[in-house]
Amino acid sequence: MPKLDKGVKLPIPSLKPGDTRSRPIKTNRKIYDSKRWKVLRHLKLIDNPFCECKECEGLDTPADMVDHIIPINMGGDPFDKRNIQSMQSHPCHDAKSGREAHGKCERWTRNSNGLKIPLRNK
Ligand SMILES: [Zn+2]
Repeated sequence: MPKLDKGVKLPIPSLKPGDTRSRPIKTNRKIYDSKRWKVLRHLKLIDNPFCECKECEGLDTPADMVDHIIPINMGGDPFDKRNIQSMQSHPCHDAKSGREAHGKCERWTRNSNGLKIPLRNK
């Protein structure tokens, strides 16, 4: 009967720090409670105190939170500066979360050739 060498550990998926693949929703709390996130969030709001959502473009809407552009649950890196944006929680972030709750950041449609293209609401 084959046996594993002593000291050889099988890889445990999604448990290494920084590995965010297929991380369940529950563990997001650990990210938001971490000092690393709090510092990153703080610096982001100092760096850009205004809402960065499309609707607020050109307006100086004060941001009161930091949002993940690609949600953590959808594979976004929680600690990548390129994946965060300053936002106003209401109504901007609420609207984004609503879109994400339907399983997509963008709405998609198909053009006359059957190709999948982003649906623009405006
Ligand atoms: Zn906004």
